[in-house]
Formats: sequence, C-alpha cells, structure tokens
Amino acid sequence: MARRRTDAYGSPMSLDRAAIDRTVDELSDKLVDLSRRIHETPELSFDERRASAWIAELVEATASVSVERGLAGMETAFRARAGAKASPRIAVLAEYDALPELGHACGHNLIAGAAVGAFLALARQAPALAGSIELVGTPAEEGGGGKIRLLEGGTFEGVDAAMMFHPFDRDVLAHPALATTRLSAAFHGSPAHAAFAPWDGRSALAACLDTFRLIDGQRVHFRDGVRVYGIVTNGGQAPNIIVEDAACEFTLRAPTSAGLAPVVDTVERCMRAAALASNVEVTIERENGYREMLNNMTLVRRFSAALTALGHAPRETDPTVGAASTDMGDVSLALPAIHPWLAICDEGETLCHEREFAACAKSPRGFRTMLDAAKAMAHTAADLFEDPALVEQARAEHRAARARSVHG
Ligand SMILES: [Zn+2]
Repeated sequence: MARRRTDAYGSPMSLDRAAIDRTVDELSDKLVDLSRRIHETPELSFDERRASAWIAELVEATASVSVERGLAGMETAFRARAGAKASPRIAVLAEYDALPELGHACGHNLIAGAAVGAFLALARQAPALAGSIELVGTPAEEGGGGKIRLLEGGTFEGVDAAMMFHPFDRDVLAHPALATTRLSAAFHGSPAHAAFAPWDGRSALAACLDTFRLIDGQRVHFRDGVRVYGIVTNGGQAPNIIVEDAACEFTLRAPTSAGLAPVVDTVERCMRAAALASNVEVTIERENGYREMLNNMTLVRRFSAALTALGHAPRETDPTVGAASTDMGDVSLALPAIHPWLAICDEGETLCHEREFAACAKSPRGFRTMLDAAKAMAHTAADLFEDPALVEQARAEHRAARARSVHG
C-alpha cells in the first residue's frame, strides 16, 4: 500500500508500489537482453566501453533522462538522475566488468541489469519522488577500484544511501567483506653458474621461497578471518643459473582495515628476514586495496522486507561461507550502503570466480534473481523517499558504526 504524503505546498504525493514491480516486469525483456549482451561480451576493468554504452543507451531510450558519460577521469563510469527534489539522494550502483579468461564468472552483468531496472522503475514515477534516484556506473570492481576513484572525484558527495546487489549461491543480506591490500617483494641477488661455482652466487629465489615458509610459520598468530595468499611472479631465469632476480606478490585480507595493519607488518618482516638469510636485497611495494564493508542494518532491514515479499527467505549472514572484498566497502565507509548477496544457483553448487558460476549468470534463474533485486532495491529507495526519519536513522547508524570501525 502506498502511503499518502503531502509536499511543502500541500500537494498529494505518493509512490505507487505496485507500479514499481509492474515497470520492472514490463521492462524484463530489455533488462535480460542488456544483461545477456554484457555477459556475451566480457570486458575487463576500465575497458567496459560497450557495456557502459549499452546501459546508457537503454536508460536514455526508456526514461526521459540524459546520462552523464565519463566520471572522475574514467571513460566507462556514468551517472543518470531522476526525481522531483534534490534530496534525499539515493544511488543504485551498477558494475559490469568481467574477469580475465573466465568472462562473467562474478555475474556483474546481473548487477548491471538490476541497477538499471531499479532506476527505471523509480524514474517512471519521477514527479512523485520526494528526492532523487541516481544510477551510477562503477567500472573496474575486479581490479582498479572504480568506486574509490568516484569517491575521490566527489560523485558520492551528498548521496544519502547507496545500494547494489551481488550474485551468490545463497541469499545473505549483510555478509562481511574483508579489508584487503597487496604486498609485493622483489629480491635481487647475484648470479653464478649453478654447478661450476654455486658458492659464488646469492639466490634471490631462495629468499623468495623462504618468504612463503616464514609467513606459514606465522599463520597461527593471525586473528580469525585473516587471509594471506601469495604467488611467485618471477622464479628465476634458467635452472643452471643461481637466481639473480625473483619476486612474489601476496594479497592480505582482514575483517577490518585496523586489523590488517599487524598482518602487513608480519608479512613485511618475513620478506626482510628472508632477504637477510640469503644476503640479497629486497624492495617491498604496497598497493592499497579495498576496505571492509559496513552493512547498514537500517537499509538491510528494508531491503529484507522487500525481498521477503517477493518470496525469498534471506539470512543476515552465513558463517559457513567465506567472505571476499569489494570496493563497495570503501563506499560503505563514506555513506550508508548495502551489498546484499542473492542466489543465482543452489547453495554449494558453485561460487563466484568459477566457470559454472559464469553459466548461472546467464541462466533463467540468474535473470529472475536480477529482476527481484531490481524490485527490492526500488522498494528500499521508495521507503527512504517516503520516510525522512528512515534516512536519518540510516545516517545515525552509519556515524556510530564508522566510529567503531575507525577505532576498532
Ligand atoms: Zn563480483
């Protein structure tokens, strides 16, 4: 039931909730076609030219809005706006990048379709929106962190809430996402013939491999939820030469950014200790990754109610499945945000970044989930437009959670 409200001039104003669902259903062929095309044309981070163009064309052809193409120095980022008032500003986020070799094995084509669906359903009722709905195209989630650049470029300044959905093997609405960073070590020794005079050389590879062994020795001290995983990126030149140059790279993750700091210290110490043991030089570089996800429970509960009304039985989280990292975490530290995970296959059948998951991301079930996510996000935004107290509640929760996260 739509709640009747009046604006400052006393005019009646209400959103037609049933019409939200009808619009998504009516547009379902177009949304599925868009999502399928993106799936069949996988484009890597920052290279999503066709996907972003197709989304912008569909939005402009369906709603009477213009799409701002190119944001924060990224050609494939975009934004569209609809609504009768400047605030509150509610953003739905689209991702559309694919993975090297695996294509859309993370299902970002469905994220795009759901965001477009939610935006168009609300844009259809633009004159009744007590605020503005924004569709933000966010490139390069799989590598590059488009949302971080958008944050730095001011795209989210003044936005009151941001939401997106991510495909998964179960419905979990407030699942954690880990803070992450990368550390790489380049070791430099001195070469020698591996048989004539190995004693004359200093092996960079020995230091590289010792790094892995030293880190393994420290794992017992890591707190729960920490993940450290590495690969050798340079293992040497030939098996008859004592290795002059070798390198490795590690991804470090922890439940919070604060919890990541001691893990960084440990891994750095292991790299330096390994270099010391082999008497080689080491150069360590750190690349900042994504921050942890602060799931805004005020928004999660509204999304949960909308999703339940569509026949889902979502859980808040599930400790039996692991957590990954997303640049939505950075957004969630800046403003109230949600990143619910919804099933596009049976639980345990397959997970993100597996070939079978790519098939699920273009299956009838995947598309049904995409349309449900579009409706649930649109209803959540409608709740915020109709109830200013809810916006304030989300904001207050965010302030408190952020203070805990920074100090925790
Ligand atoms: Zn993903």
